[in-house]
Amino acid sequence: MHLTTMRSGEGLVGLIAQSAEALALSDAQAHPAYSYKPETGEEIYHSFLGVPILRGGNTLGVLVVQNKVLRNYSEEEVEALQTTAMLLAEMIASGELQTIVGVGNQIAFRGPLELKGAPISDGVGLGHVVLHEPRIIIKHIVAEDANLESRRLDEAIAAMRATVDQLVDRSNQAGPGEHREVLETFRMFAHDRGWMRRLREALATGLTAEGAVERVQNDARAKLQRSKDPYLRDRLHDLDDLANRLLHELTGQDLIARHDDMPDNAVIVARTMGPAALLDYDRKKLRGLVLEDGGPSSHVSIVARALGIPCVGEVANVTDLVETGDAIIVDGATGEVQIRPAADVESAYAEKARLRAKRQEQYHKLRDVPAITRDGTKIDLHMNAGLLVDLPHVRETGAASIGLFRTELQFMVAPQFPRLMTQLHFYKSVIDAVPNQPVTFRTLDIGGDKILPYMKTFEEENPALGWRAIRIGIDRPALLRQQLRALLRAAGKRAIRIMFPMVTTVAEFDIAKAMVEREMKHLARHGYDVPANLKLGVMIEVPAMLWQLDEILERVDFLSVGSNDLVQYLHAADRDNKRVSNRFDVLSAPVLRALQSITDAARKAGKPVTLCGEIGGRPLEALALLAIGYRGLSMTASSIGPIKAMILALNLGEAQAFVMDLMQSPRGLDSLRDELRRFAEDRHIPL
Ligand code: PEP
Ligand code: MG
Repeated sequence: MHLTTMRSGEGLVGLIAQSAEALALSDAQAHPAYSYKPETGEEIYHSFLGVPILRGGNTLGVLVVQNKVLRNYSEEEVEALQTTAMLLAEMIASGELQTIVGVGNQIAFRGPLELKGAPISDGVGLGHVVLHEPRIIIKHIVAEDANLESRRLDEAIAAMRATVDQLVDRSNQAGPGEHREVLETFRMFAHDRGWMRRLREALATGLTAEGAVERVQNDARAKLQRSKDPYLRDRLHDLDDLANRLLHELTGQDLIARHDDMPDNAVIVARTMGPAALLDYDRKKLRGLVLEDGGPSSHVSIVARALGIPCVGEVANVTDLVETGDAIIVDGATGEVQIRPAADVESAYAEKARLRAKRQEQYHKLRDVPAITRDGTKIDLHMNAGLLVDLPHVRETGAASIGLFRTELQFMVAPQFPRLMTQLHFYKSVIDAVPNQPVTFRTLDIGGDKILPYMKTFEEENPALGWRAIRIGIDRPALLRQQLRALLRAAGKRAIRIMFPMVTTVAEFDIAKAMVEREMKHLARHGYDVPANLKLGVMIEVPAMLWQLDEILERVDFLSVGSNDLVQYLHAADRDNKRVSNRFDVLSAPVLRALQSITDAARKAGKPVTLCGEIGGRPLEALALLAIGYRGLSMTASSIGPIKAMILALNLGEAQAFVMDLMQSPRGLDSLRDELRRFAEDRHIPL
C-alpha cells in the first residue's frame, strides 16, 4: 500500500483522467506521458491498461491494471475493465464506497467545496441537497441474458419516444413558437441513428440495457463537456435528458424529486427549472435554491424572490458535484454556495443566518410604526408583487398597499394564455388581500426578456427596444381589452388603479384610456358593478416622457417611475448584462436630475408620483430619492423593513441640503455614493 500524488494531466493516469478515455499500452515506460514515481515501485511493470471511472461526465478516478511482461490488451479486456469501472462509479454514487483517489480538481470530490455563482435572492439557507432531477442509480450492469436485455432496451426506447411525442403534441396545441422547434430537435435526437448504434454496441459487450445507456452517456458527456462549442454543450443537456428518460423507463426510478420524502430543510439543486416546478415544492421545507443555468432574470428566479427563498444561479457544474442528502449552505446575498461545509464554516453561516433573522425580527416590530422622518415628513411605503405567494407579505410588512402589481408574472408561469375568468379570479384575490387601499395593477408588460412560451414572438435584434408592453397592447387590442375587463370586473365597486408600462407618447395613453372607457361602458351596459374610484396612470420608464411631463400630467391621475428601465435607457446600458449594468452609478447627478424633474412636474400639477424600480428598496438610494422630493416608494417586500428603519433615523431637511449641494458639485456627475454613505454613517442612519 502506498500513496502518491499527481496533477490532472500528469503521467498516464493523469492523461486518462483529463481525456476521459481508456489507454492500453504494451510498453508504458516508452510513452511520452509516462512519469516515474519512485514511491510506487512500479518500474517492474511494463504493460499498462487504464480506464476512467466516469459518473455523469466527471472523472471520479482511474482504474489501472499493469503486467510485468510486455503484452497487448484485447478489446474484450478493455471492455471488461470499463465495466468494472462503471460498477465502482455506481458504488461511489450510491454512497457504498467513498472516493478513493483524487486527481486534481477533476475529481468528484466528496470533501468540502466552495462554489460561487450569481446572487439571485437574498438570505442564507442551511440544509440538505435535494436534486431536482435525482440521479438514477444503476444496480445491475452485467447482463445475464443478452436477448432479454436487447428486448428491454427496445421497449424502453419505444416508451421514451412515446413520451417525447406527447411533449411535442402538447406544445403543438399551445400554438406556434420557438419552443416548438426546440422540441422538434429534441425529438430528432430521440431517433438519432448514431446514438442507437452506440447503445447496441455497448449492449453487445455484455452490459444490461441500463448499463449500456449509462456507458454511452458517460462517453458522450466526457466528450461534449470538453468541447469548446457552446452549441454542442447545449446538445448535451438534450442527450442527458433523453438518457435519463431511458433510465427511468428501465429502472422505474423517479425523474423528478419526490415531494413526499423531502427533508425539512431542503435546498433544491437543479440544472434549470420552470417557475411552476418550484411552486410545486412545499414552501415550508424549502431553505434554498441553487441553479446551474438560471440567471437573475430567469423566471424561476422571479418566483424564488417572491417566495423569499435564498437563491444562487449560474453555479457551473453544481448538479454533478453534489449528491442528494449532502449538507449545503446557500448565501443569496453574496452568491456563495458551500457544499459539505466544515464545522467552522457551518457555524459561521449559522451565525449569519441568526443575525439576519434577528434583524428581520426588529423590522417586524416596525410593522405598525408609520414611516415618518425625524423632522416629520410622512413617506408612503408600498410593496411590489406579482404572484399569489406575495400577498401575505402585505400584512406581514405593514405595506400601505401594492404599488406595482406586475400582472405578467402570472402569465409567465401559466402553461397557456389565462382566460378571462382565470384572470378575473386571480385579480379578485389580489384586491381581497389589500382591503383598505387600492392596488395599482400594471397591464401586461411582456416582450423584451419577458417571454410567454405559448405566444408567438418575433426574433428581434434589440428586444429591450422592441415590440413590448403597451406597444403589444395597442397592436393586439383584444388582449389588452380582455385584461382590462378582467381587472374592472374583479374590482366591482371597489377602488382600483391601473397603469400602463413603457408609454412613449401621450397618444399611447389616450388610446389606452379610450379602451378603458369602452370597457367601463360595456360592463355598465351588461349590468356589472363598475369601480366608483378608478385611477389611471402611466409608468415613466422611457426617457422621451421626460420632455412630455406637463402634457401627460394633464391627462393621468398618477405617475409611477419605472427606474429599472428608465435608468437602462438613460445610460444605454442593458440592465441584465453583467458587464455594463453596474458600470454607471444611479446615485449620480444626471440620473437624479432626471428623476427630480418628474417629482417637480408632478408636484406642480398636483398629481401623486411613486417610484417602483429596485432602487426604491435600497436604503442609500432611497435616501437620495427622498432628498430630491419622492414621498412614495414601492419595493420588494423584504426591503420595507430596512427602508423604514432608514426613514425613522433620517433628518430629511438636512439630507435635502446635502444631496442638492452634491448634485451641483463636479464630483456628483460621476457618483455621490461615497459621500452620501459617509453622511448616513456619521448620523447612524442604518443602511
Ligand atoms: C421598472 O422598469 O423599473 C419596473 C418597475 O418594471 P420592470 O422591472 O417590471 O420592468
Ligand atoms: Mg419596466
